[in-house]
Amino acid sequence: MITLPPAVKVATRFAPSPSGELHLGNARTALFNCLLARRHGGRFVLRIEDTDADRSEQRFTAALLADLLWLELAWDEGPDRGGPAAPYHQSERSVLYQQYFEQLERAGLAYPCFCTPLELELSRRAQLAAGRPPRYAGTCRALSDAERAARLAEGRKSSLRFRVPDGRSLEFDDLVYGPQRFLTDDIGDFIIRRDNGAAGFLFSNAVDDALMQISHVLRGADHLTNTPRQRLILAALDLPIPQYGHVSLLIGPDGQPLSKRHGAASVRELREAGYASLAVCNDLFRLGHSTANNRVLSLAQMGAAFELTHLQRASAHFESSQLRHWQSEWVQSLTVEQARIWLAPLLPAGLAPEQADAFVTAVLPNVVLAEDARLWREVVFGEALTYEPPALEAARAAGAEFFRAAAAAIGTQTGGTGGRLDLAAVSDATGRRGAALFTPLRAALTGRLHGPQLAPLLAAMPAARARARLLQFARP
Ligand code: GLU
Repeated sequence: MITLPPAVKVATRFAPSPSGELHLGNARTALFNCLLARRHGGRFVLRIEDTDADRSEQRFTAALLADLLWLELAWDEGPDRGGPAAPYHQSERSVLYQQYFEQLERAGLAYPCFCTPLELELSRRAQLAAGRPPRYAGTCRALSDAERAARLAEGRKSSLRFRVPDGRSLEFDDLVYGPQRFLTDDIGDFIIRRDNGAAGFLFSNAVDDALMQISHVLRGADHLTNTPRQRLILAALDLPIPQYGHVSLLIGPDGQPLSKRHGAASVRELREAGYASLAVCNDLFRLGHSTANNRVLSLAQMGAAFELTHLQRASAHFESSQLRHWQSEWVQSLTVEQARIWLAPLLPAGLAPEQADAFVTAVLPNVVLAEDARLWREVVFGEALTYEPPALEAARAAGAEFFRAAAAAIGTQTGGTGGRLDLAAVSDATGRRGAALFTPLRAALTGRLHGPQLAPLLAAMPAARARARLLQFARP
């Protein structure tokens, strides 16, 4: 564990851009930030980075909040909750940003750039063609006041660029990737305010981290190269610089960034597929973060077990089989009561609580997703049972005599309506044991050859229905 000096008040944030659904990679970022805050009794802030009006949509913000709440990653400050650094939508913070733009301009640390997209593109291509990494050529860097005034008078649109100092080496420690070194000469002057007046990501993101007193930023490794730029901005404004930790990217089994091609890649899709939020969190917790504990952990336990030093540099592979594993572990960790609540939407209306519990107890070992219980609901409570051909064959092969004995041996559970079969009596009467006894019974009662253990399943099935199913094979 990294011991933080007592003076450091841990505050983390999740800062999604509402331009799409909450992707698993981002959900993992949210989880890690939330856990780090909980680990140290700190604040977890949610900030909506919606300065790009063309790409941000209100419906995505609403969906992001809903997905985070479903994952139970509740924020201490943010939309809907407010907090001392409100507002938490960047689109409502432009007045604040303006002050800092002016501060930088006054100090000569930012300048208006009049280059058109076409000019920038041509310059980029020329640099690439010359085998150089493209960066801003500095065209507007040294314009005189008169030149600037003339361009403004022509009504030309301008963005604002940060003046990156020449010839400096920027060094810092990343919480995950360790010591980093960047040369300012490799970094072109970058845009901090777009020509439509909106703050650029690098700027608003860095400034807000400082204003919201964020101590630790955990984010995707694709942002690592943004960090030297953001550190420059904060230093220029004399604002506090958080500690940055970059989390390895989430990739699919084929090594490509996780996307739709790998199946469900958004939180919504997993929720709709019937995954439990805690199963999703348990899976994400192990992606790029190692832990010795292989049990299903509650969020509080994950918070206690989260270690910055356990974040890995290698890309994390998302495997849907692993997610299924955690889902299954989660299901098996449920108490009967929890399972009954979870499966409630699938249970027939008006079911007595004991019968619901008997059903849940019987089917749980065979259920991974809630939907899996649907089949067994039909088997146990459905009026008409569809028999799979091999099951029909197995039942018929046992003969009428066998089922007469079985039907005679069926009684009711004490204190309930569910069935109870006196197996010893059937065995005595028919001389069958083991599979020869169980297979035809299972086949006749459930219409299939495999499934949950028979006795618990029968305990949930109304005895009259079980008897009727056995009797239909008892006719000569
Ligand atoms: N809005 C940025 C994103 O969604 C935030 C990056 C960061 O966490 O700093 O990628």
